[in-house]
Parts: sequence; C-alpha cells; structure tokens
Amino acid sequence: MKASKIDGRIFAQNLRKKVQKAVTQLPESPSLAVVLVGEDPASQVYVASKVKFTEECGMNSIEYKLPTNTTETKVVNLVKKLNDNNKVDGILVQLPLPKGINSDRVIKEINPDKDVDGLTEASAGRLSLGKSGLRPCTPTGCVMLAKDELGDLSGKHCVVLGRSILVGKPAALLFLEQNCTVTIAHSRTENLEDVCKSADILIAAVGRPLMVKASWVKEGACVIDVGINRVPSIKRPGKTRLVGDVDYSNAKEIAGSITPVPGGVGPMTIACLLRNTVIAACSRRGWKAPTILDF
Ligand code: NDP
Repeated sequence: MKASKIDGRIFAQNLRKKVQKAVTQLPESPSLAVVLVGEDPASQVYVASKVKFTEECGMNSIEYKLPTNTTETKVVNLVKKLNDNNKVDGILVQLPLPKGINSDRVIKEINPDKDVDGLTEASAGRLSLGKSGLRPCTPTGCVMLAKDELGDLSGKHCVVLGRSILVGKPAALLFLEQNCTVTIAHSRTENLEDVCKSADILIAAVGRPLMVKASWVKEGACVIDVGINRVPSIKRPGKTRLVGDVDYSNAKEIAGSITPVPGGVGPMTIACLLRNTVIAACSRRGWKAPTILDF
C-alpha cells in the first residue's frame, strides 16, 4: 500500500484562512500577547511566525521580548499585568524559559480564560473532565488532521506513543473525546511494536528520530508524526536536517495516510493557536464563536 501524504502545510493554511474569516465576523479584532524571554534561536523563529500569522489573520499581536537575565518575578508580574488588561484575549509564554525561571510557576499565573496554549492546570483539568475549554494546540492539530483524513473517528483504536503533558497526555484525551479507543504507550510499555501495530491511528510523540519502523505500522493505518528531531544531514556533511519519530520513507509503503516531517503536524500548532485566540476572545467577551472554526 502506498500511503497518501497528509499535508499539514495546506491544512494549516486553510485553517488560518478560516480564522481570518472568523475575525471579520467579530465586533473587534482579538489580541494575542506573546512573551519571549532570552535569545533561544528556535524560540525567536517560532515567535516571529506567531506574530506574522496573527497579524495576517487580522488580529493584534503584542510582543514582549525580555532579556535572558529577567527574573521569574518579573515574568510573573508581566503575566499578571496581561491578565488584567481587558484588551488582551490570549497570553502565550514561549517555552522553554531560560534556566532559573520555573515555567510551571509562570504558566500557573496565566488566566485560564486567556490560556491559548491550553497548558494551565485549569485547562488540563477541563480537558480531563470533558468540559469545554481551551485545548493544547499540537494535540488539537493531530485530531484535526486525523478527522480530515478518516472522518468520524468513533471506535477507532488510537495509540498515542508518548505521555508528556505537552503532547501525549492531552492527545490521548482529545482522541478519547472523539470516541476512539485509546492506548497510551511510553518508555515502560512492553511489546511496543505490537502495541503500535494494533493502531488504526498512530500518534508518535517521543522525540526519538525514526524510532517507529514500518513493521510497527498496521496496513492502512493513519500515522501522525509529532516528532521534530534534528539529525546530521547525509547529503550535506556538517549540516543538519529535520526528521520525525517515524521512519517515513518505509512506513509510507504500509500506512494508509501519513504526515511528513517537516510539513505535517508542525504548521498545525500555530494555526490552532490562532483558532484558540478567536475562541478565547469570543468566550471571554460573550461573542458568539464563528461556526467556521468548528471541526
Ligand atoms: P517529551 O520528551 O516530554 O516526552 C516524550 C515521551 O516519549 C515520554 O512520555 C516518554 O516516555 C516517551 N518515550 C521516550 N523514549 C521512548 C521510547 N524509547 N519508547 C517509548 N516511549 C518513549 O517530549 P514531547 O512530548 O514534548 O515531544 C515529543 C516530540 O514532539 C519531540 O520531538 C518534540 O520536538 C515534538 N514536538 C513537536 C511539536 C510540533 O509542533 N510539531 C510541538 C511539541 C513537541 P516516559 O514518559 O516513560 O519517559
């Protein structure tokens, strides 16, 4: 079987267009505040993209760039100020924060109504209780791609490989919300290959380059690769390239559909963040959420 490629770039572009359209239906443009502390090059790139796409969608972007030696108290105080600012609809603190700043402490301060990353304890609690709320962006992107590919996910066996707070656990809960039968696998799971091979939908979120082999994939399965791993380039000595957690070139011969890396889940994360910003604005300001953002 030759898998169809799930193009996250195109899907994310369409989602951003929907967000843009949704924004035109609102009484005011929502505002997203992004806090970047330090000089981490990858974080700088992510933040620049977030700012660009926020503005492209017709929303306001408020950027705070703080030096590496900023104290935890200062970051916490900024978050508190943004919580109190009625014009701010979403607050995103770019992770990782520099050493010496406890990210849990900072995230804890974010008003759950403005928690567009879906990372606060309140958001996680709402997700696990099955109550509406702001959902984490990357796992939401995984569900959107799987639904677009397979339609109704009810009854499908979804194996989530990885149990991190950022990706694995919320992904498992979101697929459960879609009425999947969910298995969470991790570093202590026995017979990992067999567990993965039983999946109709396989979500790989381990951060181990090309760990999931073609023999781990059930014929026709939908494979969503969250991993982003930088490895030495074979073609260009001294350079690096990005690969996922799945051995894409071989797994695509077995799977029914599969996301590439790059160009799969990655672009969905920012698009879901923009969607969350509109949802947060609507819910906090009592506006009706545009149905165009439903999935
Ligand atoms: P973490 O390191 O926090 O979690 C990794 C998980 O994988 C853990 O639950 C761990 O198990 C499990 N794991 C590690 N090694 C093995 C193994 N050999 N066998 C089975 N399970 C294993 O990573 P994240 O969840 O934060 O990220 C996962 C990947 O997704 C990374 O590559 C990251 O870069 C990428 N990512 C991509 C995003 C995107 O936008 N596309 C966004 C966020 C992350 P245990 O708990 O037992 O230790």
